[in-house]
Amino acid sequence: MAMSENIEQKQSDPAPEQVPEFSIIIPVYNEQAVLSALFERLYPAMDALQRRYEIIFVDDGSRDRSAALLREQYQQRPDVTRVVYLRANAGQHAAILAGFEYARGTYMVTLDADLQNPPEEMPKLVAELDKGHDYVGTIRHQRRDSLWRHWASKAMNKLRERITNIQITDQGCMFRAYHRDIINAVLDSHESHTFIPALAYMYAGNPCEVTVEHEERLAGESKYSLFKLIQLNFDLMTSFSLAPLQFFSMAGMGVAVISFIFVFYLAIRRLLVGPEVEGVFTLFGIAFFLMGLLLFGIGLLGEYVGRIYVQIRERPRFLVRDVLEQQPSHRDTDS
Ligand code: UDP
Ligand code: MG
Repeated sequence: MAMSENIEQKQSDPAPEQVPEFSIIIPVYNEQAVLSALFERLYPAMDALQRRYEIIFVDDGSRDRSAALLREQYQQRPDVTRVVYLRANAGQHAAILAGFEYARGTYMVTLDADLQNPPEEMPKLVAELDKGHDYVGTIRHQRRDSLWRHWASKAMNKLRERITNIQITDQGCMFRAYHRDIINAVLDSHESHTFIPALAYMYAGNPCEVTVEHEERLAGESKYSLFKLIQLNFDLMTSFSLAPLQFFSMAGMGVAVISFIFVFYLAIRRLLVGPEVEGVFTLFGIAFFLMGLLLFGIGLLGEYVGRIYVQIRERPRFLVRDVLEQQPSHRDTDS
């Protein structure tokens, strides 16, 4: 409660009529190929809503012309545009968190820069927010990504549903809307690795989902390599569930019981039949199986321990180099 009071107070400081209702947060990493198309479609779509809005671009340490393009766009529409430049590439989710820190809107909407989610779908999200939902998730109507990503993401969705109690149909779609109170809770969570849609869902009181169109990336390449995708899914699983760890200790226990029975059986056989050499390969098989299981267990343990290590260091999630805006707006960290 104190938190939202604080914000209202802060917002009423400058000029209340200038406080936007919606903040659109867009992470940008080497997107020079799509930015002008994005500007051309996003601004008219937002203007058509006839509500107060601001668009916050977070330049996630781009090494192409994105930074300059964003500056140009800021100069064209300084009233509704803000640009936050990060010092170095911090990753999509950290970039969005940086955008949240600077957003002033009552509602925050995240959107990718590559136009995979048409900005013309905004009214759908706004309609749900107007109904009083504090979290509007989205489901991609027909997903336009490569086939292997389609299947992999389906499998990850299923797995997440089973091992966490986060009920989101399509975790991969970032075109989502949140009430500012939820975002404040997300920011106050100070998690160094996180998955924003899942974390926000945990804090939502009245979530809902809508179906939106999905298109192919307009230009440029996906910024996610297979390795980065695996990392992201590890973030999702281990940040929201202890199940992988628990599953492992269960499996370990099961294997231990079975191998105990097996050794017992071998000992009896040794007494009754005498020594046998032919079984050597079976033993090898079993030994390798156990070794594999052990290695996997150590790896999994390492994943959690690594996270504890990262968390206790409390390094900043991102570093801001520069901000283009008309009025200063950084969120008060002690609120
Ligand atoms: N992105 C970012 N930092 C990164 C990777 C991606 O800010 O390290 C941004 C990227 O510019 C885009 C969004 O995150 O706006 C989603 O990236 P992309 O479209 O490459 O992901 P995909 O749609 O392939 O999952
Ligand atoms: Mg994309």
